[in-house]
Amino acid sequence: MAINVVVLVGGVGGAKLAFGLAQILPPENLTIIVNTGDDFWHYGLRVCPDLDTIMYTLSGLVSKTNGWGIEGDTHAVLDAARRYGEEPWFQLGDQDIATHLLRTNAMAAGETLTEVTRRLNTALGVQHCVLPMTDVPVATIVDTVEHGELAFQTYFVRYRWQPVVKSLRFAGIENAAITPAAHTALQNADIIVIGPSNPWLSIAPILAVPGMRDLIVSRDVPRVAISPIIGGKAVKGPAAKLMVELGYEQSAQIVAEYYGDVINGFIVDTIDKTLPLPVQHTTSFEIVMNSESDRIAVAENMLQWVQSWV
Ligand code: GDP
Repeated sequence: MAINVVVLVGGVGGAKLAFGLAQILPPENLTIIVNTGDDFWHYGLRVCPDLDTIMYTLSGLVSKTNGWGIEGDTHAVLDAARRYGEEPWFQLGDQDIATHLLRTNAMAAGETLTEVTRRLNTALGVQHCVLPMTDVPVATIVDTVEHGELAFQTYFVRYRWQPVVKSLRFAGIENAAITPAAHTALQNADIIVIGPSNPWLSIAPILAVPGMRDLIVSRDVPRVAISPIIGGKAVKGPAAKLMVELGYEQSAQIVAEYYGDVINGFIVDTIDKTLPLPVQHTTSFEIVMNSESDRIAVAENMLQWVQSWV
């Protein structure tokens, strides 16, 4: 029996799970809803880092060392900019720039982000459905002790997520709306999955889209999150550091508490199997996804486990 899976993700961590799911589910049975709070304007281009990480990962173009950007991409454009005295702080590969140019152009001509995302993915051979969380621009703003409010990429890339975070907000979220495509996918989902992405930076903006959280909670289906925190540490990035700064303990249990009634299932790593978890269904298995086979194994184990509930 075909099951419809919708997975909510940010960039690199979530892309690993999305890749695993895409290897075992046919295109019509998997929808990937992606955070767009990291999107920003740079040199006049609309850059959507998480959407592109997912697209490059699913198409096989992704840089294996970075987990984002395109493998073997060159940097002639930014090197040329340096001749003018520019000091680029955000890496844009030459091939990557083509993505941003075409997206910006299409959006200026009236295409929605959903439409252009579909077109770019299809052109790269990605058949599974990749959707932005909304078509309305939303910008994650990070309030820091050292610099006050910073645009997300300034915090994350320029300052390498070192400033101490006081709070986060999602500018423009009140005007955002769930897209018809995301709405239909969630309505038809047999399983809703929250990928091992940063809960505060990647998943919170998705859940903050007006109506999104309520729509997910209203679905009487398995709603499962995979912990991005393993043994009290983030596999990568600022999740664990951010937890301390926001006043939480560094633990997978806190992630489960944070998701609250959005989830009814939670998966932790075997190293965390004794943690008390405030969720109806819980399990543990290896959830570090280094290789392609790890990604497929995590996706398979998750689907098998969820189907064993009923
Ligand atoms: P970002 O845009 O790079 O922040 O991408 P995400 O938000 O999707 O991913 C960051 C989170 O993914 C971090 O909290 C990591 O701990 C987590 N993560 C990365 N790789 C893995 C992995 O292999 N397994 C698990 N469980 N979590 C991971």
